[in-house]
Amino acid sequence: MQRGSWVLLLAALAAACQEAPVPPGKALVVASFYPMYDFSRQVAGDRAEVVSLVPPGVEPHDWEPSPQELIEVHKARFLVYNGAGFEPWVDKLLRDTTDKKIVAIETTRGLDLIPATAKRTGAVDPHVWLDPVLAQSQVEAIRDGLARGDPANAAGYEHSARAFRTRLAELDTAFAAGLRDCEHRDIVVSHASFAYLAQRYRLTQVAVMGVAPESEPSPTQLAAIANLARSRRVTYIFFETLVSPRLADTLAREIGARTLVLNPIEGLTKEEAAAGKDYIGLMEANLRSLRTGLRCR
Ligand SMILES: [Zn+2]
Repeated sequence: MQRGSWVLLLAALAAACQEAPVPPGKALVVASFYPMYDFSRQVAGDRAEVVSLVPPGVEPHDWEPSPQELIEVHKARFLVYNGAGFEPWVDKLLRDTTDKKIVAIETTRGLDLIPATAKRTGAVDPHVWLDPVLAQSQVEAIRDGLARGDPANAAGYEHSARAFRTRLAELDTAFAAGLRDCEHRDIVVSHASFAYLAQRYRLTQVAVMGVAPESEPSPTQLAAIANLARSRRVTYIFFETLVSPRLADTLAREIGARTLVLNPIEGLTKEEAAAGKDYIGLMEANLRSLRTGLRCR
């Protein structure tokens, strides 16, 4: 091949590479983890393609995208994430990205966040999605972001967001009514993910672990939690599906309580994904667990 042809070929390849991030047809929305995926899917409908970065069965705290998954992000027009420190890799990704066309939607921006109980100063609790009222604000942020980056479909996003917000408002009504009259108001949970839900419905969260599920308690801390649970006559210990129930089981045996699932909905198990479970369905199951565990009328 002559030198001129090489130059032409390289120029053509360079042009093709520049065009590669723009997918044909629908806009690609990359959501960081499950609740962001489900909320985005509800708002996008069939107007955009929504994918989740964290796959089913994986606990998203401390998860980091692989180089392959980063390529997926660079193909997207939208990146939807929780913020509040839950996805520390996003800041670096947005700093490094050369594709300025990507619309980054931080769904907790501007919300009143609860300080994390951990020692790190300035850290906030990221588990905003477990409050059906704040979840509506997250849906609004997604609606506004999608409309900004894809104005041709703005009316459609508005329509779908309104429908989903109505379902979240109904969920809030069901929680408020279902948890109004209960014998207990203390929830002993494995990792501290229910502060926003507890604040909304006047419950007290007692967490065996910290804000992240891998921060295990010392034997002294565990004994203190057992004493507290005994003194408040707790009859159920709540545990979650994506981390081992070992600690919850130990604690329950120790104080003669039983265990129930309370799902922080940070990701679906493979079984939940296969069964077509979604945020609303899992929250309804959470309400049933709470009503049983707290003996609500
Ligand atoms: Zn968590």
